[in-house]
Amino acid sequence: MKTVAVIGAGFAGLAAAYFLSKTFQVTVFDQKGIGGGASGISSGLLHPYPGEKGRRSWHADEALEAAKELLDVAEQEMQRPVAHRGGILRRGECTAPGSDVEPQADGSFLIRSGITVFPTLYLEGLWKACEKRGVELVLKKIGVLKELNHFDAVVVAAGAGVRGFPECKSLAVNFVKGQVLTCALDKPLERSISAKRYQALTPKSDQVHLGATYERDFTDEEPCLETAVKLLQPETAVLDCRAGIRVTNPAHYFPILEQLNAKTWVMTAFGSRGLLYHAYFGQKIGKLI
Ligand SMILES: Cc1cc2nc3c(=O)[nH]c(=O)nc-3n(C[C@H](O)[C@H](O)[C@H](O)COP(=O)(O)OP(=O)(O)OC[C@H]3O[C@@H](n4cnc5c(N)ncnc54)[C@H](O)[C@@H]3O)c2cc1C
Repeated sequence: MKTVAVIGAGFAGLAAAYFLSKTFQVTVFDQKGIGGGASGISSGLLHPYPGEKGRRSWHADEALEAAKELLDVAEQEMQRPVAHRGGILRRGECTAPGSDVEPQADGSFLIRSGITVFPTLYLEGLWKACEKRGVELVLKKIGVLKELNHFDAVVVAAGAGVRGFPECKSLAVNFVKGQVLTCALDKPLERSISAKRYQALTPKSDQVHLGATYERDFTDEEPCLETAVKLLQPETAVLDCRAGIRVTNPAHYFPILEQLNAKTWVMTAFGSRGLLYHAYFGQKIGKLI
């Protein structure tokens, strides 16, 4: 059986591993473990209308379908919900809404297709499904791609870690720091609220994720409570502050899936749409290799 190495155990890497493991013997390498990058700290908002204008994202229908397939897979493994499927309320513009959007009397929009994923539970379930298909996890930082020469194919799904690989230097990508606060909730939220300062449900009904920030000129990648509080202005007690790096494609909002050489592919630049696109791109790489 041919072998594939996947660098990164975030949304992108695990989706790739899941679909590739139908055909190949897959090994996932991650320096930190499952969800060690942006995926593990993301707020879990999954819907086709992110961004200031609220434009419907490209290939939204196929992407949503693919994401729901993997959510179902993870849910089956976990034997419990890994997401809240009761829609997401959008406050702000919603340009050219599709049939999944219901304007509300107060000017907001109910995105019926919106799902709030609980990333840690989801990643755990997805990993269990990968393991069942024989995928192995190796906790290791890959310094140079040459280390993986003995694999038949390599998928670089390293999130912000692409910066470390000279082969990826030509990718036109930006890096944006994001911080998310976990705050106490006085009364339970019916559904997540997508807005500049959004509120995302968590598996705990008395906690909410508040965020996230878009810090383009960051100097370090660690959480900074002072900055996060200044930018997000929480109204209730702050329980936790976490930071991660989004990789964005300045040309457009679609991720990058590129072949670097005869046997190496890169999947990155999921921006703020990691949940929307990870499974769709996982399916794509599953067909490409
Ligand atoms: C604060 C914040 C909130 C967000 N909220 C949302 C949201 O609500 N909805 C949404 O859809 N998106 C959200 N995002 C964006 C989303 O998190 C990303 O799009 C997504 O996580 C990208 O997934 P990935 O697998 O490409 O990268 P990552 O999750 O970063 O995974 C990359 C993995 O590669 C590993 N790695 C890196 N380099 C190496 C190496 N050399 N060797 C071995 N391993 C390596 C890392 O440890 C990491 O685990 C948010 C992002 C941030 C920062």
